[in-house]
Amino acid sequence: MRYVSTRGGGAPADFSQVLLAGLAPDGGLYVPEEWPSFTSDQIAAFAGRPYWEVATEVLSRFTGNTFSRERLGAICQDAYATFAHPAVTPLKQLDSGLFLLELFHGPTLAFKDVAMQLLARLYDAVLAGSGRTLTIVCATSGDTGGAAVEAFRGARHARIVALFPEGRISEVQRRFMTTAADANVRTVAVKGSFDDCQALVKAMFRDEAFRTEVDLSGVNSINWARIAAQAVYYFVSAVALGAPHRPVRFAVPTGNFGDAFAGYAARRMGLDVERITVATNSNDIVARALGDGRYQTGPVAVTQSPAMDIQVASNFERLYFEASRRDAVETARAFEAFAGQGLIDLAPQALAYMRDLFEGRMVSEDETARTILSTLNETGEVIDPHTAVGVAAARYASASSSPLVALSTAHPAKFPEAVRAATGAEPALHVRSRGLFDKVERFDRLPADVEAAKAYVRTFARG
Ligand SMILES: *Cc1c(COP(=O)(O)O)cnc(C)c1O
Repeated sequence: MRYVSTRGGGAPADFSQVLLAGLAPDGGLYVPEEWPSFTSDQIAAFAGRPYWEVATEVLSRFTGNTFSRERLGAICQDAYATFAHPAVTPLKQLDSGLFLLELFHGPTLAFKDVAMQLLARLYDAVLAGSGRTLTIVCATSGDTGGAAVEAFRGARHARIVALFPEGRISEVQRRFMTTAADANVRTVAVKGSFDDCQALVKAMFRDEAFRTEVDLSGVNSINWARIAAQAVYYFVSAVALGAPHRPVRFAVPTGNFGDAFAGYAARRMGLDVERITVATNSNDIVARALGDGRYQTGPVAVTQSPAMDIQVASNFERLYFEASRRDAVETARAFEAFAGQGLIDLAPQALAYMRDLFEGRMVSEDETARTILSTLNETGEVIDPHTAVGVAAARYASASSSPLVALSTAHPAKFPEAVRAATGAEPALHVRSRGLFDKVERFDRLPADVEAAKAYVRTFARG
């Protein structure tokens, strides 16, 4: 299995190169040179099997001959043993045709754990015996940082720096990151938005000398291995609801478009995904693009679903590449122009391609709060504000008799303020967030300045 950049630069890479690099050297995103696929019978055979076994099947199509089957199986089994639910990602029925897919049973109570627990183990496996120590720099809108710190703390072959936007994440999110006492972890509050943090990381990757100097690596959702890991639960949930014998729909709370793109990947691999509703908060760049064909960034609004306060949805480049018939020259042109002007006008053919699977829906702050309350009143379930954006959008999805799965991306205990404001009641603490408030926090502060951030990372990497 080989990978190419959406911008066409460089030679094709293998899985371990793609895993460790994150972003492609030309600034593009890695995609498989050819999509692997499963037959209906192979998909049917996923039914009733443990999560880690399906993960091994799906991942093996992407890892090629990087690992033996046994080794990959052991990694998957170990990664998903950290989840607090035996099903790993259980389904819960909300309504006659509406299901919640609970992706938050991992160590930091957000769906980011699903990929990150696997990623840290893949890093260790690939780097074992190499003598290398990579420097992972990761921008976080709240949940990636915690999941990455939790997965990589104490890692033998990696140190990690998590950059988060100061004052724009919840206290529980922050504490999952800042209370790790391990020597290979640094957390940094950046004066700015998530987009500013993400721009710092992208600038570090563009600087080749810096990249080599600190042995830079990235685990943001631009890392292909995360997309591959997230495709797994589309298969697992669809099969539980009758795939491959009936199609399934999904509603996906969206920020950087990684999770939604994992659904596209599952479809390309043969899963009958009828529709994906891309649910955004008022930072609705992707929902707007799917509506009027203009992919245009704007100022970031602060909302109750901070992990989605993003106006540059990095993974959209992967969809654009596919929608442009894998034209890397066109993709490079469009996204280099976007970096300057903040705008791409989608060609009618590309927009039609996207709309064949995706529909966009923006959910307002008010509607998010009302959905938390109505879901509690009608079903007894307390949902977090990100999940509420997905559930609200699901209620508008075009009519169909296929089951609809709303991805539940965080546990409500991670966003107690928003849940209290919507329902008047405190969400129950999760066992995994107990003790968080007694631990000491450690973090540094930086301006949203590339040179300052590089100097900081350089010092840490030398030390
Ligand atoms: C990261 C995150 C999202 C958005 O996922 P993307 O892959 O960035 O689109 C949604 N909800 C929660 C809770 C998250 O942490």
